Amino acid sequence: MSNKTYAAEIEIATMALAEATLLCHSVQGHDAMIKGDLSPVTIADFGSQAVVCRMLREAFPDDPIIAEEDSALLQSSEQAELRQILGTHLEMVRPGASLSDAMKWIDYGNAKTYSDRFWTLDPIDGTKGFLRGGHYAIALALIEDGEVVVCGLACPKLSDQVFFASRGNGAYHGDQLLQVTQTHISGEPRICQSIESGHTSLKDIHRVADYLEINTARVELDSQAKYVVVARGHAEIYMRLPLGNGYIERIWDHAAGALLLSEAGGKVTDCGGRLLDLSCGMGLEKNVGIIATNGVVHDQVIEALESLDIYPE
Ligand code: AMP
Ligand code: MG
Repeated sequence: MSNKTYAAEIEIATMALAEATLLCHSVQGHDAMIKGDLSPVTIADFGSQAVVCRMLREAFPDDPIIAEEDSALLQSSEQAELRQILGTHLEMVRPGASLSDAMKWIDYGNAKTYSDRFWTLDPIDGTKGFLRGGHYAIALALIEDGEVVVCGLACPKLSDQVFFASRGNGAYHGDQLLQVTQTHISGEPRICQSIESGHTSLKDIHRVADYLEINTARVELDSQAKYVVVARGHAEIYMRLPLGNGYIERIWDHAAGALLLSEAGGKVTDCGGRLLDLSCGMGLEKNVGIIATNGVVHDQVIEALESLDIYPE
């Protein structure tokens, strides 16, 4: 286990997330644009990516960043109005910033392939939640030699303070140590899950809960806030069960949450019980779905998936 504290990385990450959160608050309420894959993106996604990537590049100029967005859509002629709105808000959090600076900063995040040290960023995880006024997260993680070593998660609807962790040093919310519960499978563990039925099989979650005789109400929320909820002991199980459509999970949707929860004493694997393999580039190509728990109940959840023949390979 690493004995590095990553103090400089944590400091920059938390500062970057605080600035991005300010920007997200300030631009909330504007229309979404639609990306090529038909998912929504907002000027908050672009602005958040711009400010985080700018700060990372200044502090760690050699570190590649694999981030979710690129500036192409925002640069198109149809988006002139939203672009100007973003420029105005960006100027408020970062005086002197021009729109061409912003485009350049966004595209600092355009690394696509694995390297032995890189950052991954979801500038707004849970954009659909953000648009509904629900939960969202700004999720940032540093990966070294295929392992997440630092993470920061801003979850503005859970807290004003950033959640962060570094490998081997615990998970924190401010100066408060995060700790999972020790609830057993028979002790009424709480399940959390996506709101969006297009992101997880709600039917299979129901089957697993029935099989394990878990009757507690489900906690439904968007984004990696689900990992935070388990890490701070407000739930025990986060299941993300594939819909069978071949979707490959993205590293920026899980790297930060997975370290936070592991450092809080929990466990994160895919549906087959395999650890997340962050060495494939943007996608978790060697994994299927996500099972994140307090650790205590983990094996029983994986066994339930096997018994029910849900994605065993
Ligand atoms: P959640 O807020 O947990 O529902 O997940 C939000 C994330 O789901 C987004 O950041 C997307 O990257 C991701 N996503 C998009 N399409 C899918 C899909 N078909 N299956 C699973 N996740 C998806
Ligand atoms: Mg996301």
